[in-house]
Amino acid sequence: MKSTLDILPLNSWLETNGKPVIIAGPCSAETAEQVMETTTQIKAEGFANVLRAGVWKPRTRPGSFEGVGEPALAWMQEAHKETGLPVAVEVATPQHIELALKYGVNILWIGARTTVNPFNVQELADALKGVDVPVLVKNPVNPDLQLWIGALERLNQAGIKKLGAIHRGFSNAQETKYRNSPMWHIAVELKTMFPQLPIIGDPSHMAGKRQYLFELAQRALDLNYDGLIIESHRDPDKAWSDAAQQLTPKALGEMLEALSVRSKEYGTDYQSELEVVRAKIDNLDRELLENLAARMSLVERLAEYKRDNNVSAYQVDRFREILKTRAGWGKSMNLFPDLVDELFKLIHMESIRKQTEVMNQPKVSA
Ligand code: PEP
Ligand code: MN
Repeated sequence: MKSTLDILPLNSWLETNGKPVIIAGPCSAETAEQVMETTTQIKAEGFANVLRAGVWKPRTRPGSFEGVGEPALAWMQEAHKETGLPVAVEVATPQHIELALKYGVNILWIGARTTVNPFNVQELADALKGVDVPVLVKNPVNPDLQLWIGALERLNQAGIKKLGAIHRGFSNAQETKYRNSPMWHIAVELKTMFPQLPIIGDPSHMAGKRQYLFELAQRALDLNYDGLIIESHRDPDKAWSDAAQQLTPKALGEMLEALSVRSKEYGTDYQSELEVVRAKIDNLDRELLENLAARMSLVERLAEYKRDNNVSAYQVDRFREILKTRAGWGKSMNLFPDLVDELFKLIHMESIRKQTEVMNQPKVSA
């Protein structure tokens, strides 16, 4: 479905002096002192354009810290007065919006667990009709670009023109080194569809651990993201939420100093196209391995059958047939013959190894 977004450029509503926007602050507002100390330290470091803090925390399981709620909005208002920096909080219900606006919150963001639900997003969009406030939309927890676009469209149709996207990565089906898989190609595709839409990288929620923040932040800048949102706490290890991924304001300042900001003019299209092609290659390689794994489990079934019927693992005619048919298939696909030949010799060798392993296991009696 074709779509356009009628949005205002980021620099028309946020002053960043041509540099990537930096949004920093604790995962959660915990106490008045923690907010004030953290935000004044951030201000003193001089890198931030916006302060962030979670006031209502969407937690996976009940019983974890769910945010302070309304009192924390007053602390954020104080932080704004003290530092002069705009403040941003997450909203998930129309009531959150009403309260955030009452306390003068300057920028709202919609969290990943809200973006997944079009009913929720529509309620927020309805509550924002006629309100002139910037809204940043985090990607949904699942890797569905359409949901992300849908949320941006709902807000835009409600009249929100100061709009941006936050890329925070996607839930993992399997263990990876990151808490959320970046899947950069999804954000790159969003940017390709809506070049005027600001995209802000959230290395904190991608990483889950502070040791990965730098590489993820650099990657976002290499892809010409318009900014970064990074969690920072006066005493990260004692944070009430997301302790492992937060940095002190000083450490964050040092990290940001070490990042290279690439020129916007150079190679944007080349970079993003490269990223899309690489992502497709990654997917194909994954499918290749999934197919190999599926093939191996069939081999296992075959081996059980052979064992139970006293048939030998290796049958020369079958091997010859495999090499011959695969060579023909490969030729018709314009693949280099040696590649196909070597590949199937390797696969067959592994298949024999697996079969002998299974055949040497005792038969399971029925
Ligand atoms: C957050 O920014 O603190 C947060 C809860 O993030 P997400 O919605 O990306 O999980
Ligand atoms: Mn967090």
